[in-house]
Amino acid sequence: MVAAVVAHACEAAPAECCGILLGSEPRIVESVRARNLSDAVNRFLIDPRDHIAARREARTRNLQVVGFYHSHPHSGPTPSVTDIAEVTYDGCLYLIVSLVSEPAVRLFRMNREGPGELPLTVGSLLG
Ligand SMILES: [Zn+2]
Repeated sequence: MVAAVVAHACEAAPAECCGILLGSEPRIVESVRARNLSDAVNRFLIDPRDHIAARREARTRNLQVVGFYHSHPHSGPTPSVTDIAEVTYDGCLYLIVSLVSEPAVRLFRMNREGPGELPLTVGSLLG
């Protein structure tokens, strides 16, 4: 899953990529690529059609949309001020890939009080 997200980030650079994480809390089972509708280089906006399709796909496989991933081609793998302000919904997971030097990946739960980092070894995350 992480390898697929990093590959997407590298392909999309220098633009941000984004996608949807399917799983069953707290496990992330799979990542699904989504179109980034944002024109700005430092933000992402998941195409709602991709979000809806991912929800449908998750339901047929007894999974849920547990969160979202996106890349930071020019900054570190932590939520930006914009990410925090525009969080998709309270409590969802954000996986962020930085491409500043070596690809680096970190996982956060986006709470109302602010992002809380989670270990990348949660469940089968690395599978
Ligand atoms: Zn971001």
